[in-house]
Amino acid sequence: MNALTYPSHLKQHFASDNYAGMCGPAAHWFLEANNSGHAPAYGDDEWTHKVSESLRNLFQTDCDIYFVFNGTAANSLALASLCQSYHSVVCSPVAHIETDECGGPEFFSNGSKLLVADAGGEAGQHGKLTPDAIEAIVTKRTDLHYPKPKVVSITQATELGTIYSVEEVRAIAAIAKRRHLKLHMDGARFANAVATLGCHPSEITWRAGVDVLCFGGTKNGLPVGEAVVFFDKHLSEDFAYRVKQAGQLASKMRFISAPWLGMLQDDVWLSNARHANTMAQRLRSKLETLEGLSLLAPTQANGVFVNLPQTAIDKLQTGGWRFYEFIAGGGCRFMCSWDTTDEAVDALVSAIEASLN
Ligand SMILES: *Cc1c(COP(=O)(O)O)cnc(C)c1O
Repeated sequence: MNALTYPSHLKQHFASDNYAGMCGPAAHWFLEANNSGHAPAYGDDEWTHKVSESLRNLFQTDCDIYFVFNGTAANSLALASLCQSYHSVVCSPVAHIETDECGGPEFFSNGSKLLVADAGGEAGQHGKLTPDAIEAIVTKRTDLHYPKPKVVSITQATELGTIYSVEEVRAIAAIAKRRHLKLHMDGARFANAVATLGCHPSEITWRAGVDVLCFGGTKNGLPVGEAVVFFDKHLSEDFAYRVKQAGQLASKMRFISAPWLGMLQDDVWLSNARHANTMAQRLRSKLETLEGLSLLAPTQANGVFVNLPQTAIDKLQTGGWRFYEFIAGGGCRFMCSWDTTDEAVDALVSAIEASLN
């Protein structure tokens, strides 16, 4: 086989972890929810109640939980519930809410502005915010001509595949509290972060000062759907109406909620994430042995970022390999998923090696 040719029998891609299908346990409960006959609509079914209770148990706190179709809706609606139209949200320049949600947060909040705080230095290169960067942007202006800072949004794991430590989240929460800002966490890859940190999920969220978490399920092995988790229940007032108005209230909600049972039983969400992270480590360590490329941010979750020569990129794409080059300005991004195989990683590495020659 020509190493540059896409091995179609593997049918695995590295463009995003959302290229993968749903995992077995999620599929099992999806079908169970179907086999149970008729069920009340709009979330008043036993599956949705059961999953919400399981998530409260997981986080060891009495939080409010809502299910939406995707991450853009989860982030946009969560932020809208924290802001008035004249407020602003502090985020990193590479934040998904800033670069990849088509203005959704601004639209659903009726105009709340995103304030891009550049941490600079290593933190910035790793896609992170810092307490200093937040402090600088929220104290830059205090007059009423500037949109009033109201929220800090951090992404865990970040868009560049790095991770905030528990101490880093605590430090950001401390400055947020001092400046009367709410703390939102975009957890599209929350599972990957928890798997790496090895901490309890409560430790990196509400115990560290996070008010709202958008808990990603899709990239972790669900067919569809993200959970919005309000640790501060005052902030979820009328959230159900927002979800409905935004066209995010699934009438057959059990098909979004029930698959979560498969993720939560036996900590499948963590083993899926651990697998994806391990595959990314495999990819990284093999790429480190090659000449003619440079690895970018540290690989702490399930993504590997690499600078490749344009000739290599062209050859890989001609060979059928799909990957993004626009994410976070960080070169070529290769994402591993819950089902990425050793063979797929090795085939990709062989193709990259061949493309460099
Ligand atoms: C994938 C992703 C989302 C969600 O994106 P959707 O396509 O709207 O589901 C949100 N934040 C980050 C960091 C992501 O990578």
